[in-house]
Amino acid sequence: PTRQYFQLNEALGESLRLVRDQKLFLHVKVVEDAPAAPVLVNADKNQLCQVVINLIINAVDAMDGNGTLTLRTYEDRPNRKAILEVSDTGGGIPAENMSKIFDPFFSTKEVGKGTGLGLSMAYGIMEENHGRIYVKDTSPEGTTFALELPLVPMSD
Ligand code: ADP
Ligand code: MG
Repeated sequence: PTRQYFQLNEALGESLRLVRDQKLFLHVKVVEDAPAAPVLVNADKNQLCQVVINLIINAVDAMDGNGTLTLRTYEDRPNRKAILEVSDTGGGIPAENMSKIFDPFFSTKEVGKGTGLGLSMAYGIMEENHGRIYVKDTSPEGTTFALELPLVPMSD
């Protein structure tokens, strides 16, 4: 990875900009929940955007183009983590699939609609950047994926 310092929000904004004109977003309400203070990280921004784009597309797929996409960034100060969450109001991940979703080529989508590589690549990218990806919450009411990176302390 080619690391640089940037605000988590920049990566989120750039990722959203790259996908939100797609037809599938027409009936999706997008809610952005970012703190006033910047959340600073040191990571490969392009790689991180790739991961975020994947999560956003998965979220919109899960809602079949109808629902609310919530994007949130915040600091977990005590644990020194920067967190980015992507939430949807889709149908959730069935318990029996939870251990498989990060496996390469695991997909529940129709042939041609998904390769099953998105989350496995995301997993590798987050590892390379000293972070991680996990399912924070899933239920028939929706799913939240979280990305975690080491927080760069702001000196002021
Ligand atoms: P793909 O999108 O090509 O199917 P991914 O690796 O991105 O591959 O995701 C693997 C599988 O995980 C999906 O096929 C789907 O079953 C499940 N999944 C991922 N994100 C969500 C989500 N937000 N809601 C419900 N299921 C999801
Ligand atoms: Mg995907």
